[in-house]
Amino acid sequence: MKIKDLFQNGRQVLSFEVFPPKRDCPIDTIYGTLDDLAALKPDFISVTYGASGTEADSGTFEIASQIRKKYGIESAAHLTCVNTSEESMRQHLAKLKELGVENIMALRGDDEPQEGAPDPFPHASDLISFIKAEDPSFGISGACYPETHQNSKNQIEDIINLKKKADAGCEHMMSQLFFDNDMFYDFLEKARIAGIDVPVEAGIMPVVNVKQIVRMVSLCGASLPPKFTKMMQRYESDPKAVEEAGVAYAVNQIVDLLSQGVDGIHLYTMNRPEVAKKIVSAVKDLFARGDA
Ligand code: FAD
Repeated sequence: MKIKDLFQNGRQVLSFEVFPPKRDCPIDTIYGTLDDLAALKPDFISVTYGASGTEADSGTFEIASQIRKKYGIESAAHLTCVNTSEESMRQHLAKLKELGVENIMALRGDDEPQEGAPDPFPHASDLISFIKAEDPSFGISGACYPETHQNSKNQIEDIINLKKKADAGCEHMMSQLFFDNDMFYDFLEKARIAGIDVPVEAGIMPVVNVKQIVRMVSLCGASLPPKFTKMMQRYESDPKAVEEAGVAYAVNQIVDLLSQGVDGIHLYTMNRPEVAKKIVSAVKDLFARGDA
Protein backbone atom coordinates (compact mmCIF):
# COMPACT_ATOMS: atom_id res chain seq x y z
CA MET A 1 0.00 0.00 0.00
CA LYS A 2 1.21 3.48 -0.79
CA ILE A 3 1.71 5.60 2.30
CA LYS A 4 -0.35 8.45 0.86
CA ASP A 5 -3.40 6.16 0.89
CA LEU A 6 -3.22 5.79 4.68
CA PHE A 7 -4.40 9.39 5.04
CA GLN A 8 -7.70 9.02 3.22
CA ASN A 9 -10.84 10.64 4.63
CA GLY A 10 -9.08 12.69 7.27
CA ARG A 11 -7.45 9.74 8.99
CA GLN A 12 -4.58 10.85 11.25
CA VAL A 13 -1.57 8.60 10.79
CA LEU A 14 0.98 7.45 13.37
CA SER A 15 4.37 6.39 12.03
CA PHE A 16 7.69 5.42 13.56
CA GLU A 17 11.25 5.88 12.38
CA VAL A 18 13.99 3.37 13.18
CA PHE A 19 17.64 3.15 12.15
CA PRO A 20 19.53 -0.02 11.17
CA PRO A 21 21.92 -1.52 13.72
CA LYS A 22 25.39 0.01 13.85
CA ARG A 23 28.08 -1.54 11.66
CA ASP A 24 29.48 -3.85 14.36
CA CYS A 25 26.05 -5.24 15.34
CA PRO A 26 24.34 -8.06 13.48
CA ILE A 27 21.24 -6.99 11.56
CA ASP A 28 19.09 -9.34 13.68
CA THR A 29 19.50 -7.05 16.71
CA ILE A 30 16.85 -4.76 15.22
CA TYR A 31 14.13 -7.41 15.38
CA GLY A 32 13.74 -7.28 19.18
CA THR A 33 13.15 -3.53 18.82
CA LEU A 34 10.70 -4.09 15.98
CA ASP A 35 8.80 -6.78 17.92
CA ASP A 36 8.06 -4.18 20.59
CA LEU A 37 7.36 -1.32 18.18
CA ALA A 38 5.05 -3.47 16.03
CA ALA A 39 2.96 -4.24 19.13
CA LEU A 40 2.13 -0.50 19.27
CA LYS A 41 0.43 -0.82 15.87
CA PRO A 42 1.85 2.13 13.97
CA ASP A 43 0.44 2.75 10.48
CA PHE A 44 3.90 2.44 8.98
CA ILE A 45 7.56 2.32 9.98
CA SER A 46 10.33 4.02 8.04
CA VAL A 47 13.97 2.91 8.12
CA THR A 48 16.81 5.40 7.81
CA TYR A 49 19.61 5.05 5.29
CA GLY A 50 23.22 5.80 6.01
CA ALA A 51 22.41 7.86 9.12
CA SER A 52 23.74 7.26 12.66
CA GLY A 53 27.13 5.95 11.63
CA THR A 54 25.82 3.05 9.60
CA GLU A 55 27.13 2.11 6.20
CA ALA A 56 25.05 3.39 3.32
CA ASP A 57 22.88 0.35 2.81
CA SER A 58 23.60 -1.73 5.90
CA GLY A 59 20.27 -3.41 6.08
CA THR A 60 17.85 -0.55 5.37
CA PHE A 61 16.19 -2.35 2.47
CA GLU A 62 16.12 -5.74 4.19
CA ILE A 63 14.62 -4.28 7.37
CA ALA A 64 11.98 -2.34 5.41
CA SER A 65 11.11 -5.57 3.64
CA GLN A 66 10.82 -7.56 6.88
CA ILE A 67 8.59 -4.90 8.45
CA ARG A 68 6.03 -5.74 5.76
CA LYS A 69 6.61 -9.49 5.59
CA LYS A 70 7.15 -10.38 9.25
CA TYR A 71 4.93 -7.83 10.97
CA GLY A 72 2.36 -7.00 8.27
CA ILE A 73 3.04 -3.28 8.77
CA GLU A 74 3.59 -0.91 5.85
CA SER A 75 7.16 0.40 5.54
CA ALA A 76 9.25 3.01 3.80
CA ALA A 77 12.94 2.66 2.99
CA HIS A 78 14.88 5.94 3.17
CA LEU A 79 17.21 6.44 0.22
CA THR A 80 19.73 9.23 -0.30
CA CYS A 81 20.93 10.34 -3.72
CA VAL A 82 23.82 12.79 -3.48
CA ASN A 83 26.99 11.43 -5.15
CA THR A 84 25.14 8.42 -6.53
CA SER A 85 25.17 7.39 -10.20
CA GLU A 86 22.00 6.69 -12.13
CA GLU A 87 23.14 3.12 -12.62
CA SER A 88 23.57 2.39 -8.92
CA MET A 89 20.25 4.11 -8.22
CA ARG A 90 18.64 1.80 -10.78
CA GLN A 91 20.13 -1.15 -8.92
CA HIS A 92 18.77 0.14 -5.60
CA LEU A 93 15.29 0.43 -7.09
CA ALA A 94 15.50 -3.08 -8.52
CA LYS A 95 16.57 -4.43 -5.11
CA LEU A 96 13.70 -2.65 -3.35
CA LYS A 97 11.27 -4.06 -5.90
CA GLU A 98 12.66 -7.56 -5.45
CA LEU A 99 12.29 -7.27 -1.67
CA GLY A 100 8.69 -6.08 -1.99
CA VAL A 101 9.29 -2.61 -0.51
CA GLU A 102 6.61 -0.28 -1.90
CA ASN A 103 7.51 3.11 -0.42
CA ILE A 104 10.66 5.20 -0.65
CA MET A 105 11.56 8.22 1.47
CA ALA A 106 13.54 10.09 -1.18
CA LEU A 107 16.29 12.27 0.29
CA ARG A 108 19.30 14.20 -0.85
CA GLY A 109 21.48 13.26 2.15
CA ASP A 110 23.88 15.49 4.03
CA ASP A 111 27.09 14.73 2.12
CA GLU A 112 28.68 17.48 0.08
CA PRO A 113 28.55 16.85 -3.69
CA GLN A 114 32.00 15.75 -4.96
CA GLU A 115 33.78 18.66 -6.55
CA GLY A 116 34.14 18.54 -10.31
CA ALA A 117 32.11 15.35 -10.67
CA PRO A 118 28.72 15.80 -12.35
CA ASP A 119 25.97 14.79 -9.92
CA PRO A 120 22.78 13.42 -11.49
CA PHE A 121 20.92 13.98 -8.21
CA PRO A 122 21.83 17.35 -6.67
CA HIS A 123 18.41 17.56 -4.96
CA ALA A 124 15.82 15.17 -3.62
CA SER A 125 13.46 16.39 -6.34
CA ASP A 126 15.88 14.95 -8.95
CA LEU A 127 15.70 11.55 -7.26
CA ILE A 128 11.91 11.79 -7.12
CA SER A 129 11.65 12.54 -10.86
CA PHE A 130 14.03 9.64 -11.54
CA ILE A 131 11.99 7.16 -9.47
CA LYS A 132 8.77 8.32 -11.13
CA ALA A 133 10.28 7.77 -14.57
CA GLU A 134 11.87 4.41 -13.72
CA ASP A 135 9.01 2.85 -11.76
CA PRO A 136 5.89 4.87 -11.01
CA SER A 137 4.52 2.06 -8.81
CA PHE A 138 6.64 3.20 -5.83
CA GLY A 139 5.03 5.46 -3.24
CA ILE A 140 7.30 8.48 -2.69
CA SER A 141 7.77 10.52 0.47
CA GLY A 142 10.09 13.44 1.12
CA ALA A 143 11.43 15.60 3.93
CA CYS A 144 10.33 19.10 4.93
CA TYR A 145 11.69 21.61 7.40
CA PRO A 146 9.39 23.67 9.65
CA GLU A 147 12.37 25.82 10.65
CA THR A 148 13.85 25.99 7.11
CA HIS A 149 16.62 23.76 5.75
CA GLN A 150 20.09 24.97 6.70
CA ASN A 151 21.13 25.36 3.03
CA SER A 152 18.27 27.74 2.23
CA LYS A 153 18.66 31.49 2.41
CA ASN A 154 15.19 31.91 3.85
CA GLN A 155 11.90 30.13 4.38
CA ILE A 156 10.30 31.40 1.17
CA GLU A 157 13.13 29.96 -0.93
CA ASP A 158 12.88 26.67 0.97
CA ILE A 159 9.12 26.42 0.43
CA ILE A 160 9.46 27.25 -3.29
CA ASN A 161 11.94 24.35 -3.50
CA LEU A 162 9.59 22.14 -1.51
CA LYS A 163 6.88 22.82 -4.07
CA LYS A 164 9.31 21.56 -6.76
CA LYS A 165 9.59 18.37 -4.72
CA ALA A 166 5.80 17.97 -4.62
CA ASP A 167 5.54 18.76 -8.35
CA ALA A 168 8.17 16.11 -9.11
CA GLY A 169 5.89 13.49 -7.53
CA CYS A 170 6.45 13.53 -3.76
CA GLU A 171 3.13 12.29 -2.35
CA HIS A 172 3.70 12.66 1.37
CA MET A 173 6.10 14.60 3.60
CA MET A 174 7.63 13.97 7.00
CA SER A 175 8.97 16.94 8.88
CA GLN A 176 12.26 17.53 10.60
CA LEU A 177 11.90 17.34 14.38
CA PHE A 178 10.79 20.48 16.16
CA PHE A 179 9.93 21.51 19.72
CA ASP A 180 7.78 24.56 19.05
CA ASN A 181 4.42 23.66 17.50
CA ASP A 182 3.74 27.25 16.45
CA MET A 183 6.68 27.04 14.05
CA PHE A 184 5.15 23.96 12.48
CA TYR A 185 1.72 25.62 12.09
CA ASP A 186 3.30 28.71 10.54
CA PHE A 187 5.32 26.59 8.10
CA LEU A 188 2.32 24.46 7.19
CA GLU A 189 0.15 27.47 6.47
CA LYS A 190 2.78 28.87 4.10
CA ALA A 191 3.28 25.47 2.44
CA ARG A 192 -0.46 25.18 1.81
CA ILE A 193 -0.57 28.71 0.37
CA ALA A 194 2.29 27.70 -1.93
CA GLY A 195 0.08 24.91 -3.24
CA ILE A 196 1.69 21.97 -1.43
CA ASP A 197 -1.33 19.80 -0.75
CA VAL A 198 0.14 16.41 0.13
CA PRO A 199 -0.20 14.99 3.68
CA VAL A 200 2.49 16.40 5.99
CA GLU A 201 3.40 14.48 9.14
CA ALA A 202 4.84 16.34 12.11
CA GLY A 203 8.20 14.93 13.25
CA ILE A 204 8.40 14.48 17.00
CA MET A 205 11.47 13.37 18.89
CA PRO A 206 11.08 12.56 22.58
CA VAL A 207 14.20 13.88 24.26
CA VAL A 208 15.43 11.37 26.80
CA ASN A 209 18.88 12.67 27.62
CA VAL A 210 20.60 16.02 27.57
CA LYS A 211 23.55 14.89 25.40
CA GLN A 212 21.11 13.74 22.73
CA ILE A 213 19.40 17.10 22.59
CA VAL A 214 22.68 19.01 22.28
CA ARG A 215 23.72 16.72 19.40
CA MET A 216 20.36 16.91 17.63
CA VAL A 217 20.16 20.67 17.84
CA SER A 218 23.67 21.04 16.44
CA LEU A 219 22.79 18.71 13.56
CA CYS A 220 19.42 20.04 12.53
CA GLY A 221 19.25 23.51 14.07
CA ALA A 222 15.89 23.03 15.81
CA SER A 223 15.19 25.92 18.14
CA LEU A 224 14.41 25.27 21.77
CA PRO A 225 11.50 27.16 23.38
CA PRO A 226 12.36 28.67 26.79
CA LYS A 227 9.98 26.30 28.61
CA PHE A 228 11.82 23.34 27.08
CA THR A 229 15.26 24.67 28.01
CA LYS A 230 14.09 25.42 31.54
CA MET A 231 12.76 21.90 31.92
CA MET A 232 16.04 20.35 30.74
CA GLN A 233 18.12 22.62 32.99
CA ARG A 234 16.04 21.74 36.01
CA TYR A 235 16.36 17.97 35.58
CA GLU A 236 19.73 17.61 33.79
CA SER A 237 21.46 15.95 36.75
CA ASP A 238 18.73 13.31 37.06
CA PRO A 239 18.56 11.07 33.94
CA LYS A 240 15.26 9.45 34.98
CA ALA A 241 13.63 12.83 35.44
CA VAL A 242 14.97 14.06 32.08
CA GLU A 243 13.38 11.06 30.39
CA GLU A 244 10.08 11.54 32.18
CA ALA A 245 10.00 15.24 31.34
CA GLY A 246 11.04 14.56 27.71
CA VAL A 247 8.23 12.04 27.26
CA ALA A 248 5.70 14.43 28.87
CA TYR A 249 6.86 17.25 26.57
CA ALA A 250 6.46 15.05 23.47
CA VAL A 251 3.00 13.94 24.63
CA ASN A 252 1.96 17.59 25.10
CA GLN A 253 3.20 18.46 21.62
CA ILE A 254 1.31 15.53 20.09
CA VAL A 255 -1.96 16.30 21.92
CA ASP A 256 -1.82 19.86 20.62
CA LEU A 257 -0.91 18.78 17.06
CA LEU A 258 -3.65 16.17 16.85
CA SER A 259 -6.29 18.51 18.22
CA GLN A 260 -5.24 21.11 15.62
CA GLY A 261 -5.95 18.47 12.97
CA VAL A 262 -2.45 17.63 11.66
CA ASP A 263 -2.26 14.84 9.08
CA GLY A 264 -0.09 12.62 11.22
CA ILE A 265 2.71 12.17 13.72
CA HIS A 266 6.08 10.73 12.74
CA LEU A 267 7.81 9.60 15.91
CA TYR A 268 11.61 9.44 15.85
CA THR A 269 11.84 6.38 18.10
CA MET A 270 15.67 6.30 18.31
CA ASN A 271 15.13 2.51 18.52
CA ARG A 272 13.75 2.94 22.06
CA PRO A 273 10.43 1.04 22.08
CA GLU A 274 9.94 1.59 25.81
CA VAL A 275 9.85 5.35 25.21
CA ALA A 276 7.55 5.00 22.19
CA LYS A 277 5.26 2.83 24.31
CA LYS A 278 4.87 5.48 27.00
CA ILE A 279 3.99 8.07 24.37
CA VAL A 280 1.61 5.91 22.39
CA SER A 281 -0.26 4.72 25.46
CA ALA A 282 -0.85 8.36 26.42
CA VAL A 283 -2.23 9.45 23.02
CA LYS A 284 -3.44 6.43 21.06
CA ASP A 285 -7.14 7.20 21.46
CA LEU A 286 -6.69 10.73 20.12
CA PHE A 287 -5.89 9.72 16.55
CA ALA A 288 -8.86 10.45 14.30
CA ARG A 289 -9.64 7.22 12.52
CA GLY A 290 -11.18 8.66 9.36
CA ASP A 291 -14.01 10.90 8.23
CA ALA A 292 -13.02 13.45 10.86
P1 FAD B 1 16.49 18.61 -0.68
O1 FAD B 1 15.02 18.50 -0.81
O2 FAD B 1 17.29 18.43 -1.92
O3 FAD B 1 16.79 20.05 -0.04
C1 FAD B 1 18.12 20.42 0.34
C2 FAD B 1 18.32 21.91 0.07
O4 FAD B 1 18.24 22.15 -1.35
C3 FAD B 1 17.25 22.80 0.68
O5 FAD B 1 17.85 24.00 1.06
C4 FAD B 1 16.26 23.02 -0.44
O6 FAD B 1 15.53 24.24 -0.29
C5 FAD B 1 17.17 23.04 -1.66
N1 FAD B 1 16.50 22.49 -2.85
C6 FAD B 1 15.68 21.40 -2.88
N2 FAD B 1 15.25 21.17 -4.14
C7 FAD B 1 15.80 22.13 -4.93
C8 FAD B 1 15.74 22.41 -6.30
N3 FAD B 1 15.03 21.64 -7.14
N4 FAD B 1 16.44 23.49 -6.77
C9 FAD B 1 17.17 24.26 -5.94
N5 FAD B 1 17.27 24.02 -4.59
C10 FAD B 1 16.60 22.98 -4.10
N6 FAD B 1 19.61 11.76 5.92
C11 FAD B 1 20.22 10.58 5.68
O7 FAD B 1 21.39 10.54 5.30
N7 FAD B 1 19.53 9.38 5.86
C12 FAD B 1 18.24 9.33 6.26
O8 FAD B 1 17.66 8.25 6.41
C13 FAD B 1 17.57 10.57 6.53
N8 FAD B 1 16.28 10.60 6.94
C14 FAD B 1 15.63 11.81 7.13
C15 FAD B 1 14.28 11.82 7.50
C16 FAD B 1 13.62 13.02 7.71
C17 FAD B 1 12.15 13.02 8.12
C18 FAD B 1 14.31 14.26 7.54
C19 FAD B 1 13.60 15.57 7.79
C20 FAD B 1 15.66 14.25 7.17
C21 FAD B 1 16.34 13.04 6.95
N9 FAD B 1 17.68 13.00 6.57
C22 FAD B 1 18.31 11.80 6.34
C23 FAD B 1 18.46 14.24 6.44
C24 FAD B 1 18.49 14.81 5.00
O9 FAD B 1 19.23 13.97 4.15
C25 FAD B 1 19.15 16.20 5.09
O10 FAD B 1 18.34 17.09 5.81
C26 FAD B 1 19.62 16.80 3.79
O11 FAD B 1 20.49 17.90 4.09
C27 FAD B 1 18.51 17.34 2.90
O12 FAD B 1 17.78 16.36 2.37
P2 FAD B 1 16.44 16.68 1.52
O13 FAD B 1 16.00 15.42 0.92
O14 FAD B 1 15.48 17.47 2.32
O15 FAD B 1 17.10 17.65 0.39
